[in-house]
Amino acid sequence: MLDRKLCLGRRLERRPEAALMGRVGKGVRCTVTGCGEEAVRSVSPVDVSRAGLKSTSSGRGYLCKNHYKELKKKLRKDKELERMRMTG
Ligand SMILES: [Zn+2]
Repeated sequence: MLDRKLCLGRRLERRPEAALMGRVGKGVRCTVTGCGEEAVRSVSPVDVSRAGLKSTSSGRGYLCKNHYKELKKKLRKDKELERMRMTG
């Protein structure tokens, strides 16, 4: 019984981002080069590069409110372009 609880606790500790669901705790800074605002969301490095943002981190990106909005806008535009290309 006790062993299983310990195991679960360790697993959660190893993957904190799974428990956070994209949310970022206080004190984390935006990883976009030259920014430094407080981050509100973490995103995958794939999304960061697709949005054309320059991140100082090679892993997950942490974005402030403004950059997260920018990323969402760019990714949405990407999707619209894709759809237009598909339908001709
Ligand atoms: Zn930022």
